[in-house]
Amino acid sequence: MIPPQFDCVRARTVEEAVAVLAEQDNAKLLAGGQSLLPILRLRLAYPDVVVDLNRTAGMRGIRDEGDHLVIGAMTTHYAVMNSALVRRHCGLLAEATATVADPQVRHRGTFGGALSHADPAGDLPAVALAFGTTMVVAGPNGRRTVSASEFFVDYLQTALEPTEMLVEVRVPKLGTSTAWGYRYEKFQRVAQAWAVVGVAALVRRSAGAIEQARIGLTNMGSRPLRATATEAALNGVKVTAGAVDEAAALAADGTSPPSDLSGQADYRQHLARVLTRSAVLTAAGI
Ligand SMILES: Cc1cc2nc3c(=O)[nH]c(=O)nc-3n(C[C@H](O)[C@H](O)[C@H](O)COP(=O)(O)OP(=O)(O)OC[C@H]3O[C@@H](n4cnc5c(N)ncnc54)[C@H](O)[C@@H]3O)c2cc1C
Repeated sequence: MIPPQFDCVRARTVEEAVAVLAEQDNAKLLAGGQSLLPILRLRLAYPDVVVDLNRTAGMRGIRDEGDHLVIGAMTTHYAVMNSALVRRHCGLLAEATATVADPQVRHRGTFGGALSHADPAGDLPAVALAFGTTMVVAGPNGRRTVSASEFFVDYLQTALEPTEMLVEVRVPKLGTSTAWGYRYEKFQRVAQAWAVVGVAALVRRSAGAIEQARIGLTNMGSRPLRATATEAALNGVKVTAGAVDEAAALAADGTSPPSDLSGQADYRQHLARVLTRSAVLTAAGI
């Protein structure tokens, strides 16, 4: 279908983009357009103004800031998954990003767009949650930070105010450079499809025991979730397949996944347990 009519503003700076959001009641930001354009074409949204961020200064790129990387919101999936910095320090993010859609979508779609869209079936919100990322948000009163656990509020809903935008994301270095093992397990009906369920696991080992585990779940509720019962059960245990089996059996606790054409809720809960076991075993190096 043809999208509804709207004005388009190309913002040169973050401040310019925020000013349009503050002036207009019904404006939408355009990043890679991979989610927004289908929404417009299906006439699920009728913005008066679309604010194009594709030439907005200072929103692309990846830099090293000590214990974390800073990734500009407009950095494409392709750039993230191929970044030497991301692969070395935040390998889970590179691995999960490589499973997003297909090459065309990864060349246009952006890290910030995927997080702001907050689709619980998207791979990157659960990964951001597992890392404990911090979102840097710009609004009319300047910038503020929001933790990933507060950012994802509900289905397609974030903590962003209508006058705010995501500018960059701070991702802690939890990768091989800091002795973290990782694995993203994605179960999909066909290659390049959305996840029926996904599990993002980060595991830090020390002296034969699991020191800490951080596990994010994709498509297991109306927002990305942490598998907190599994994380707690893994804390301090000797690294054995039996211990991982017991902890993974708790992975679906507290989840409320959807039932749809790709699977019923109880099937998704079963998948979450199976995929968590597999992801944690790999991340723990067993
Ligand atoms: C065929 C297809 C298959 C896909 N498969 C997958 C998949 O397997 N896994 C997966 O995770 N994703 C998948 N996607 C989605 C893809 O990852 C998109 O890139 C992503 O969801 C949106 O990113 P974008 O940059 O295109 O954002 P856009 O579509 O431009 O924007 C998405 C939403 O975020 C808002 N937004 C964008 N940038 C900002 C910002 N900086 N601050 C505040 N709000 C902002 C927009 O206003 C809009 O509401 C798929 C998409 C397609 C078309």
